[in-house]
Amino acid sequence: MSKFKALYEFQKPLQCLTPESFLDYVNGVIPQDHLCRLVKEIVWRLDTVSIEEKYSFLGQRTYHPKLLLSMLFYGYATGTRSSRKLEEKCLCDHIYIFLMGNYGPDHRTISDFRKNNLQEMEKYFVEIVRIFQELGFTNVGKIYIDGTKIKGNASAKRTKDREGFSAWLTKIEEEISELLKEAEAIDEKEEKRCKSVESDEQLMKKLSKRTYLKSKIEAALEVMEEENLSKLNLTDNDAHHMKAGGSKDIRPGYNGQTSVSKDGVILAAEASMDPNDCNQLEPIIEKSNSNTQQSVEEVIADSGYGNYANYEYLEAKEIEGHVPDRYFHQYKTGEYEKEKNRYHYTNFKYDASIACYICPEGKRVEYWKTRKNKSKTRQWNHKVYKGSECASCDKRLLCTKSKERELLIDLREPLLQKMRKKLMTEKGKAEYFKRQYTIEPIFGHLKFNIGYRSFLLRGKEKVNGEFKLMSIGWNLKKLLQMKAKAA
Ligand code: SF4
Repeated sequence: MSKFKALYEFQKPLQCLTPESFLDYVNGVIPQDHLCRLVKEIVWRLDTVSIEEKYSFLGQRTYHPKLLLSMLFYGYATGTRSSRKLEEKCLCDHIYIFLMGNYGPDHRTISDFRKNNLQEMEKYFVEIVRIFQELGFTNVGKIYIDGTKIKGNASAKRTKDREGFSAWLTKIEEEISELLKEAEAIDEKEEKRCKSVESDEQLMKKLSKRTYLKSKIEAALEVMEEENLSKLNLTDNDAHHMKAGGSKDIRPGYNGQTSVSKDGVILAAEASMDPNDCNQLEPIIEKSNSNTQQSVEEVIADSGYGNYANYEYLEAKEIEGHVPDRYFHQYKTGEYEKEKNRYHYTNFKYDASIACYICPEGKRVEYWKTRKNKSKTRQWNHKVYKGSECASCDKRLLCTKSKERELLIDLREPLLQKMRKKLMTEKGKAEYFKRQYTIEPIFGHLKFNIGYRSFLLRGKEKVNGEFKLMSIGWNLKKLLQMKAKAA
């Protein structure tokens, strides 16, 4: 005979529960090591005075920010961030009932709280990172840096260049003038009949929609002019066109930059509008320093961050870097040593005793001049060497299209070569390999496990706040794992 656990008619005993005894009951059924208990414990340690001060003493009593923060942090940690879903969970999910103290805020209250306090998330993110440090769960020294493209809350169709917006504006203006003519005709009819025509209301709706759109396009054109932008998205002006990793689609989005400690704790998180990672190394290291009040000593990042300027920065700050350049793969696999690449600049060897390069044919390529000027589009920062015997060289056509071979050697070339050599050592390879299972799983978890493939909010500031919430969620889950391991 089958054996079942006792079947209770829950409804009856629940009816006689007071809110307090109901909370006692919920508290009793949640495991002691559940994430929601940790979230509550952490939120109760945070200083929420700045949010509390935003509320007026007058009017209705409202939900305490600590309750709403607990609910938001837990929601973002577990993949629930829609205000409507959170509203529903506060009514029927005992974890959320525990977090909200049996209060049921509506979706508008939740979304307004999030929207109005996004700037505070930066502060809470930093406070939580410092709690990790206080508890001895993370140490700054070695950090891993990476970025991931996350779609903005905007349609790609609404990204246009100036010509696109101008053509759209002309179309809207034509539609508005058509609608105005129609409205005049309706007014005349109304006068004759002395009664309102139903289509008039619809017409006014269409007209106000187009007028609003027209003002938005005009504002977008002004922004493009002022900021000298070639493209802009009408829905989210800050979302830039970028290619999401692995996808061929180019969509409006943000570049989420993070630095992670070797224990997998996010130390800094910033949503950038720049699709290129190479400009983000310095800001994210500086942010990690300020968030943790410690100095970064070692950095591991992928080839997206490998350029001369970053090598120069790492050298100046005495930070040990493991950052390949974008041609490192070819260098590592011996691509430049192949016969077809015989005249690649890496095969020209510098001879310090005569201060010039020796080409693959054993001829001298001598110093000519140094270029150190900066134009709008490019910064010249290199020494130029010229072949002295190219005119008589029978391999010239394979080597250069000019009369003489010119070698442009960046002044920081020794830093690049030093980095390449370091990455080729066993230690360098092992250090770089750790990146794959330290930082990349975080993006995998956020984007694929809990579905954060796009932002809900619009505009750089709000998106940045939302990215902080995602990172807080990850860190809280990490803290739970670390506590469990330590116990
Ligand atoms: S063209 Fe000049 S630099 Fe090139 S292989 Fe011949 S001598 Fe050397």
